[in-house]
Amino acid sequence: MLSFSTPVAKLNRIGKATAARLKKIGINTVADLIWHLPSYHEDLSRIVPINQVKVNQKVTIKARVELIANRRSKIKKMNLTEGLVSDDTGSIKVIWFNQPFLTKQIKAGDELYLSGKVDDEYYTLQLTNPLWEKVKSDTIHTARIVPIYPATSGLTQKQLRFLIKQILPLVREMDDYLPNQIKYQFKLMHLSDALFNIHWPDNLTKLSEAKRRLKFDELFGLQIVQAKSKVDLKSQRAPRIPFLESATKKLVNSLPFKLTDDQRKAAWEILQDLDKNIPMNRLLQGDVGSGKTVVAAIACLNCALNNFQAVLLAPTEILAFQHWQTLNKTLTDFNVPISLFTRSHRLTTISDKKLTKKELLKKIKEGEVKIIIGTHALLQEDVFFNNLALIVIDEQHRFGVEQRKQLKDKTPNLLPHFLSMTATPIPRTLALTIYGDLDISLIKQKPPGRKEIITRLITPDKRKQAYNFIRGKIKQGQQAFVICPLIEESDKLGVKAATSEWEQLQKKVLPEFKIGLLHGKMKAKDKQEVMVKFKNKEIDILVATAVVEVGVDIPDATIMVIEGAHRFGLAQLHQFRGRVGRSDKQSYCFLFTDQFDNKTISRLKAMEKTNDGLKLAEFDLNIRGMGDLYGVRQSGMPNFKIASFEDLDIIKQARQAAQQIINESPDLSLYPLLKKYFDDKIKTVHLE
Ligand code: ADP
Ligand code: MG
Repeated sequence: MLSFSTPVAKLNRIGKATAARLKKIGINTVADLIWHLPSYHEDLSRIVPINQVKVNQKVTIKARVELIANRRSKIKKMNLTEGLVSDDTGSIKVIWFNQPFLTKQIKAGDELYLSGKVDDEYYTLQLTNPLWEKVKSDTIHTARIVPIYPATSGLTQKQLRFLIKQILPLVREMDDYLPNQIKYQFKLMHLSDALFNIHWPDNLTKLSEAKRRLKFDELFGLQIVQAKSKVDLKSQRAPRIPFLESATKKLVNSLPFKLTDDQRKAAWEILQDLDKNIPMNRLLQGDVGSGKTVVAAIACLNCALNNFQAVLLAPTEILAFQHWQTLNKTLTDFNVPISLFTRSHRLTTISDKKLTKKELLKKIKEGEVKIIIGTHALLQEDVFFNNLALIVIDEQHRFGVEQRKQLKDKTPNLLPHFLSMTATPIPRTLALTIYGDLDISLIKQKPPGRKEIITRLITPDKRKQAYNFIRGKIKQGQQAFVICPLIEESDKLGVKAATSEWEQLQKKVLPEFKIGLLHGKMKAKDKQEVMVKFKNKEIDILVATAVVEVGVDIPDATIMVIEGAHRFGLAQLHQFRGRVGRSDKQSYCFLFTDQFDNKTISRLKAMEKTNDGLKLAEFDLNIRGMGDLYGVRQSGMPNFKIASFEDLDIIKQARQAAQQIINESPDLSLYPLLKKYFDDKIKTVHLE
């Protein structure tokens, strides 16, 4: 008996070789075959009378075989099978190459469907290499909408279709895990209908309904997970941090600038969240330079003055140090004890001397310091907090309930509030799909008075000109970054890419300037030294790899050169660009590329046209897809079979459906089929 778990090797007409090829593309069982979805379909359903076929069209005809015979071509020594077929309106020549066995399968007098391209050979029309099938009611390859499966070596479309067709009736027995009420509400097809129609659709409407149902399922799966984690979080308790109005006002008034409306709004949303005993889970999204740090400082201050602890974590030591300096300056009137705790720094505002690790850990444990700044690595350290109420993380989006529970605190039954900050633009569809469990605050405006960065695509013939331009600017005392992409897989830290670019520039192209080098293999101390030199203008040009954070503020850096720009996602290019344009001087971004295909050019031209990171990310998401958007594949990003981030409507519906279900039954116990489906899914994920 055939079942979903039957190995494909047991199917009719599958030999060892075919089974091995199927295995190569991940198809081991009948279920795998059913879920091997077509990448597209070809509509061969319209039958064209022979007297109406036109050259270069792809057509299906229904015809009787008049003659069929093999011969060898004189010139190329190929086996040709030639035939003449006719219907009521006329006749047409058919030719197949290198399939001499066809004369055994097709005989004069047979009724066939033939689908193929119409060629013009010496002024007569002919069908070349058409797909054919004997006329019957249920065809597979012709006279209908036909599935085209992802191309796989050694497996033909014919084989795949044949195999899938023979097992497809099995889906009639499949349970549909989606509750009827959801199917009804969102007008979704039954699962078995969807599977039938995704392979061999009855018509184009059914095909699009089938796609919609299967896309919905994928997105719904993600949304269930998120809705569940949101509910889980709501059932937890957090320390309530009452909003301190006068202290907050005092801080805002002491700033050397006026907060933008977006900064005010974000700060307000955060302060309101903190003033509840439900853990905050919020993403603060704002382009590079939009001023997120001061918003974090406002939150940290409210926390500290309420006698709670806050941690602020940055991705690199350099950035942690910068946050330390900023917070010291910003909060100077308040006398809150702040500490910097990284591998190379253990500083605190309550003592002038450098502390040992032990001394600082003690001060944290006893609650003497209120704001602790460090790198993400601090979370793995053996830190015992005293009354941790707020975690702020710069540039890391995910932080689950489990991770929060792992932080050792005096009050382990309370979860700290969580704020994550990112300059990565997150398109709306993406935010809804994978950050559905986070609340989002947006800082859209930049502080007033910033100049737009001028961006130019530089083709190899313009390179010299660009270097001359850069030379001129550096002579005026400005500075430049040169970012190199990783070209070889083995060069993970970019040592090779950056070093060779550095040599080239220092020895040949711009030898008159001081050029620095920064790559992933260097020690933290050496990296910092290079950055300090760059800041002090002992270095004019800094060559760096993408993996190296170049996050510090270098006000005189006005030029950003990106080598091999086509290798980066637009969101990432935009991030690099954000490293310049931090003063009143005009800044420039040069994108070097030697690729001229339309896709590359239109992507890079988009960089020239807009400085809006979100627009760029959305544009790239549609062109290049998820994985490439942020340069590196991030873990936890969904790998869709059929859904995509363009499906905004389905994303919204799946989200609504998931919220309904989870509100009604957070553990899915009211929906046993759905629960089983997810449990099985989790099992297979864990086995991988
Ligand atoms: P990011 O959002 O990239 O973390 P920062 O918080 O580092 O940005 O802010 C960038 C710079 O802008 C800092 O020098 C900061 O002092 C300044 N800044 C922040 N907010 C404002 C504002 N409202 N007006 C003017 N300058 C501001
Ligand atoms: Mg920042």
